Amino acid sequence: MTDRLVEPGEREAVLRPPTLVVGVGASKGAPVAEVLGLVEDALREAGLSAASVAELATVDAKAGEEGVVAAARRLGVPLVTYGAEELARIDVPHPSDAPLAAVGTPSVAEAAALMRGGELLVPKRKSAARPAMATCAVVRRPGRGRLAVVGLGPGARDLLTPRARAELRRASVLVGLDQYVDQIRDLLRPGTRVLESGLGAEEERARTAVAQARRGRAVALIGSGDAGVYAMASPALAEASDDIDVVGVPGVTAALAAGAVLGAPLGHDHVSISLSDLHTPWEVIERRVRAAAEADLVVTFYNPRSRGRDWQLPKALGILAEHRAPATPVGVVRNASRADESSRLTTLAAVDPATVDMMTVVTVGNTATREIAGRMVTPRGYRWQEEAQ
Ligand code: SAH
Repeated sequence: MTDRLVEPGEREAVLRPPTLVVGVGASKGAPVAEVLGLVEDALREAGLSAASVAELATVDAKAGEEGVVAAARRLGVPLVTYGAEELARIDVPHPSDAPLAAVGTPSVAEAAALMRGGELLVPKRKSAARPAMATCAVVRRPGRGRLAVVGLGPGARDLLTPRARAELRRASVLVGLDQYVDQIRDLLRPGTRVLESGLGAEEERARTAVAQARRGRAVALIGSGDAGVYAMASPALAEASDDIDVVGVPGVTAALAAGAVLGAPLGHDHVSISLSDLHTPWEVIERRVRAAAEADLVVTFYNPRSRGRDWQLPKALGILAEHRAPATPVGVVRNASRADESSRLTTLAAVDPATVDMMTVVTVGNTATREIAGRMVTPRGYRWQEEAQ
């Protein structure tokens, strides 16, 4: 499969991928034979097949230029046009004054061909006629990019899934928070480009990852736990267009890692609530906490408390306490699955917010949750269990 001119051997077939964009410029009244001849010569001399041309591209002002329209029709491809202003923004090797005066952009053929990126295979050339009434340039479009949104799990290497590992190796560009990059740097292929950034700058990270994929690269955007849970997947996919492939690799989120440490707190209906009011107004958070309290859901609090944000957790626990007994089990797990993991099982009445920080999740049981042999257990509520009690 190639866009290059090749001589197929016996019993060989050549498939033509639609990889080439031909930018064309034409003076008013340029004959179709001149435009088409120019394009065909340019392709042939560059060793490229006309069957791989995906589209002709030009400036809006030439959308009705008969020689150009007919050339596209003869090649069997669509004619795509762009505004002069858009074209003027494209960096090209051969700008000139003539099109600037005529249509308002220093380049038509090269700029239109390069509009969506790619490699300039044939720089601007003019038709052989005198005076020359047509120009063209040929670009090979970038390959289709791939964005893998990869959850790294809570920290322990053996909670990183084999699929996540494979995606990290496949990536030619890795985008993520520096502390997460450190966690998996040894798993990358040598030569992988690493674009790491500090806390915050989420949207910029998302934009960077998508922009790299749109250039045809294989990009891995990483996040701790599951990358779709209070993490990068949403801002990235909000940016992404349908011209890239996207794959998600699920990870073990903090609530699950903490649940396994505590026992079986999530055995019945449960919910996660982030107490960070950075992106969500507190009234919204409070309404959700209240709804969870009333619905008797087990609740896991993410982002429960930071240095500058200390009143939200006591407030949220207070709302739950309006609907649950003081002895309701509460699990506090810090750095689940990491070297300095710690956990404590306490109660709604006794939980000490000072033991909680940003590396922690707090799981509050429902009205049926019990502490059994030092473990937090939320019954499934099967009938046979009730009968046995
Ligand atoms: N995408 C992550 C969550 C990001 S929000 C996930 O799926 O786990 C960041 C919050 O997650 C932290 O403030 C903390 O509350 C929680 N968290 C993440 N990793 C944790 C871990 N190993 N142990 C305990 N809490 C963790």
